[in-house]
Amino acid sequence: MPERCPSGALSAGFPSLPPSLPPCRQPKSAAPAPERISSAARVPRDHASPYCQSVPRVITRVIRIGPLSLGGGLPPLVQTMTDTDTRDAEATLLQIGRCAEKGADIVRVAVPDAASAAALERVAGGSPVPVVADVHFDWRLAVLSLKAGAAGVRVNPGNIGGGAELMKVAEECSRTGACLRVGVNLGSLDRDAEARLGRGPEAMCASAEGACALLDREGFKNFKVSLKASGVGDTVRAARLFSRISDVPQHLGVTEAGPMVAGIAKSAVALGALLSEGIGDTIRVSLTAPPEAEAEAGVEILRALGLRKGGVEIVSCPTCARCRIDLPSLIEEVKRRLADVKDPLKVAVMGCVVNGPGEAKDADLGVAGGRKRGRIFVKGRFVSELPFAELAPALEELARGFLKEKAGAT
Ligand code: SF4
Repeated sequence: MPERCPSGALSAGFPSLPPSLPPCRQPKSAAPAPERISSAARVPRDHASPYCQSVPRVITRVIRIGPLSLGGGLPPLVQTMTDTDTRDAEATLLQIGRCAEKGADIVRVAVPDAASAAALERVAGGSPVPVVADVHFDWRLAVLSLKAGAAGVRVNPGNIGGGAELMKVAEECSRTGACLRVGVNLGSLDRDAEARLGRGPEAMCASAEGACALLDREGFKNFKVSLKASGVGDTVRAARLFSRISDVPQHLGVTEAGPMVAGIAKSAVALGALLSEGIGDTIRVSLTAPPEAEAEAGVEILRALGLRKGGVEIVSCPTCARCRIDLPSLIEEVKRRLADVKDPLKVAVMGCVVNGPGEAKDADLGVAGGRKRGRIFVKGRFVSELPFAELAPALEELARGFLKEKAGAT
């Protein structure tokens, strides 16, 4: 039996919706939304190295944030959010820089007051990536942030007043060329949608659709939506429902996902499910952890799905009693030394010779640990055996030579 997506009219602040959304087209057990997922021929490929495409993507409308395009089947972008005091522009800029080094494409900053909005002039002006202002309750802070140079602003229509306030923000976005995110959260839904549909994914979807209908009707197109809940099931269902009824790009995330391990697990399950169906144009892994870790986790989720390539991919073993070297510190040292590498490079760092040489065959470079020593391989070919302290420097030298040779050959 086909699944149905109920929805309906929204609050006084937003235009009314039809009493029910169109039926979802796929059976519960089938692959999602086939007619919205592009054929391979329609998928833009390698639009901006080092990104890549390997999963068919749902084609949403293309929007812009700063110099970046997103939507339209382009590979998803990674977002994170600073945890510094935004008024401290220098500390915020330093953290943004570290997040960008970890692979963040867009960084959001909280703007709880006018002083934070004013600081965006320095923060947005000095940032290597587009800066988005995160605003709650007071739409005027969003306008101030945009005037100060924010490339985008995220507001929740459910807590800034209603349609009139949303349009004031959209008008300023139009004036400055900025991007708007309609951030719907299960915790602060449109009141009428919640009253009619209950507190769940259907009401999240209806809340987002009401805001989108208003923006579209008023001629503002440069916006995306997010439908966030703290549960994986609600997050996935809301994003799927919205994807079936709208071509507006989606930002994905499980809100308040939790501390490092639990948060990454939740986010990987929810984002992985949606991204593998082609849904999602930007992502954030929300963690009770430094934003640099969020950025790194987001990049790794995309990398695992083949939606981002480039940089150093480390393949390493979990270690066991056979390991006679400090493998974690070797991995960290290799990552640190090769942090600037943008071209794809696969490095296998293995604890012993049981799987080391085998993994090294599939990697560009490999090391297999021995007793306080290690054997180094290039494309599976043994090149040298060195003491532990010399392994990381040797790997770096070989990596740079390997990449230079590869660049010369292309
Ligand atoms: S590669 Fe060696 S050290 Fe690592 S888990 Fe396998 S057997 Fe253990």
